[in-house]
Amino acid sequence: MSGDTIFGKIIRKEIPANIVYEDDLCLAFTDITPKAPTHILVIPKKPIPKLSDSTPADKELLGHLLLTVKEIADRAGLTESGYRIVINTGDDGGQTVFHLHLHLLGGRSLGWPPG
Ligand code: AMP
Repeated sequence: MSGDTIFGKIIRKEIPANIVYEDDLCLAFTDITPKAPTHILVIPKKPIPKLSDSTPADKELLGHLLLTVKEIADRAGLTESGYRIVINTGDDGGQTVFHLHLHLLGGRSLGWPPG
């Protein structure tokens, strides 16, 4: 279920991560270089390299990821203050790990537009 990226290794538990949530379809862990007081990555276990590689067959999975990140944000106490979900996609999007992931960022006021 996992591809050959650092996130694949985390899914397979070959390298450590601070896992905060896991189910059959996805995994969430804290970002190793946090950009906000709360910075959690939510990834599908299916190795979709980037959002632009997803297909209609991934509709339920993508919905599951969004509902899961919402739940994790709530558990982290961010619902009232607010937070941001980011999916960097491809080179211009700033993606560095080519295994689809949602960034959950919160705990401070986030600037807009992003750099
Ligand atoms: P992106 O630039 O959108 O591809 O985001 C990749 C994210 O993965 C960055 O925020 C990195 O800090 C994070 N990252 C890379 N390696 C690890 C790791 N081993 N554990 C946790 N987060 C990582």
